[in-house]
Amino acid sequence: MKTPDFDKVKREAIRLLSFQEHMFELAVDVKRLIFNKTVIIDSLEQYAWITGIDHDYETHCKLYYGLQNGCTIRAADGTYLILYDDHMKNKRRQNWSLAHEVGHIYLGHESDGPIEEVEANFFAAQILAPDIVIKTLVQSGVTLTEDFLYKQFFLSREAAGRKLHYLRNTLCSQSSPLEEAVLDVFSRAIRSELAWYLHKKQRVNRE
Ligand SMILES: [Zn+2]
Repeated sequence: MKTPDFDKVKREAIRLLSFQEHMFELAVDVKRLIFNKTVIIDSLEQYAWITGIDHDYETHCKLYYGLQNGCTIRAADGTYLILYDDHMKNKRRQNWSLAHEVGHIYLGHESDGPIEEVEANFFAAQILAPDIVIKTLVQSGVTLTEDFLYKQFFLSREAAGRKLHYLRNTLCSQSSPLEEAVLDVFSRAIRSELAWYLHKKQRVNRE
């Protein structure tokens, strides 16, 4: 039976992060990522307006594309169009849905089966809270909690909880050369995070 290939998923997520511009904060906004494939991220509303779908477009699109949180359309020229529901109030969940869709694209998924879903979710967790970045923060003195992951990364509360659970078993693994590149991308964000964190910790200790 086919099982999720977590090593491959992590590799692809790290590869995508490794060629991003320097991040100034830990939170990764998927809409601002640089892609090496033609990926366009747009709201369903905008898409409906451009393509002239009638005023009932929302129901239409939701039915037509099975859109719940986000969906991807592949154009004949190979362009990927990720559509998201702009009415979604929870921006953290929206960001997750976009990362999930990017995962389907970068993992070359042809369908939305249970294994593909697990892989796309694991990809999202790697993109939005890279293991190597968290590992470095922990080695520098940060106490890892669900609250810390939730506040510093662009994750939902639920995703932060799952990530914490996963990290407890993986933090001691060796880092790869690609991960070192990711560390470089996040170096400024890590430095400012640590400065802020250690300052706050000192203040708490003094009080
Ligand atoms: Zn999916």
